[in-house]
Order: sequence, then C-alpha cells, then structure tokens
Amino acid sequence: MIRHLNCASFAPRLVGPMVAHVLLVERPEGLLLVDTGFGTADVAHSVRLGRAFRAMMRPALREQETALAQVQALGYQADDVTDIVLTHLDLDHAGGVGDFPAATVHVYDAELEAARHPRGMEHGRYLPVQWQDARFATHHADGGDDWHGFESVTVLGDDVLMVPLAGHSRGHTLVAVRDPEVADGWQVHAGDAYFHRGDLTSPPTAPRVLRVVQRLLAQDDVVRRANQARLRELVQADHPGLRIFSAHDPVELAAFTDA
Ligand SMILES: [Zn+2]
Repeated sequence: MIRHLNCASFAPRLVGPMVAHVLLVERPEGLLLVDTGFGTADVAHSVRLGRAFRAMMRPALREQETALAQVQALGYQADDVTDIVLTHLDLDHAGGVGDFPAATVHVYDAELEAARHPRGMEHGRYLPVQWQDARFATHHADGGDDWHGFESVTVLGDDVLMVPLAGHSRGHTLVAVRDPEVADGWQVHAGDAYFHRGDLTSPPTAPRVLRVVQRLLAQDDVVRRANQARLRELVQADHPGLRIFSAHDPVELAAFTDA
C-alpha cells in the first residue's frame, strides 16, 4: 500500500500554502519512505533551519506532521522503516532522516557529492546535521532510456526507481514506485522538478511568483527548464497508469489524501 503524507507545512508570503509530500510504502520487506519533510529535531531546534529559510518559507513545524509521528500513529515503530529514498537533499526533504536510524538512505551520487562538497549557490541549501550520521546507499544511472524514455536506475528490485532529473539541484531525481493496484501503474514523486500543477500544463499556468522562485533556487536553470519540459511531455502523453506529483503542491496532495 502506498500512503501519501504531508510532513511539513509552509506559508510563504505571496505564494500561499505549501506542503512536503511524502510517500510511505508498506512493503513485505519493511517500510519505505520517499522524502521525509522535517524531522523531530527540526521541530525541536527550528533555529537550525536558518533565519533566511524560516523567514522566506514560514514553516509551521508541527511534531505531529513529522514522518516519525505519522508512522507511529499507524502502529509502527521507527525501526520498521528500512529504506528512505530521497529526491534530493534539500533541508525540507531530508529533515526526517535522523528519526529512522535503522534505514538505508538512498540518494543519487551527484546529489550526495553536492551536499558534501557544495559549490557556489549550493552553500546554505543543505544541512549536514540532518543526515551526517545516515547510512547512505548511492545510485547512478548508466545510460539507456528504459523508463518511458527516461534514464533510470533500480533502487529496490524493479519496483522502486530513481529517474535522474537534474536542474533544481545537482543530483535531483524523480522517484517512481510501482503501484500494484494499477496496470502498468507508477506513482512518481517528482520532488522539486516542478512546484505547481500548472507548471505541467500547455501553456504553463503556474503563478508567476512560483516560476521566479524555481529559477532562483535552481542549481542549473537551463537544465531545469529542459527537464521540466520533458516531464510536461510525459504527463501530456497518455499514460493512464502514471500518477505524477511534486513535493510542495497542496492540491496535488489532496487528490490522494481526500480520495
Ligand atoms: Zn523542496
């Protein structure tokens, strides 16, 4: 079963409410998280998120929104989470890593390299205290276009894939989880490859402020825009089994949680 959680709430001025969309996948081998939002240490020590981030994003920081609290509310324990797959290591995606010490943390190799050795604008976007004690497994795709025309790398069997889609950050990826309840079904966490459902319409209808924010946050904006265009083509091609959503759009999240 694939559950959709909100593991952080934000209220940036001009933009309106944003969420941190997280997947909790119940597999026979253990629980899998895709992204983690904020963790209990972020909530308890919010100063560590930095003044600039807090002033811009205005996070709510509620203990009950952490992945740990939601996993426990379902009757599980922290150690039942065996694997975490991260779209990237930005602080609003990796904060929950520290709450699951038993988990293997899967990340694209270029992203871990960027987080450990930031260059230029990468300084400040990563928060090593969130993940420095994690047990990482790094992944790298080596060519081919085996997943709907995109390069991909298997993370856990054939059911969990990383689809590298750089631009927002150096090693940003989509994470695709096979949906056992749908023929050719995949639920695709697109991380920050786009910010608003209107980024993927033709023509794009995302609010202008969000288009500006995406450009300012991009590690490589030329690559980001090209990859967002590829994703738009994929969404507009008719693949009924594909459900694609981004990390921060509350309307996309509600489409799953209100169902
Ligand atoms: Zn983000």
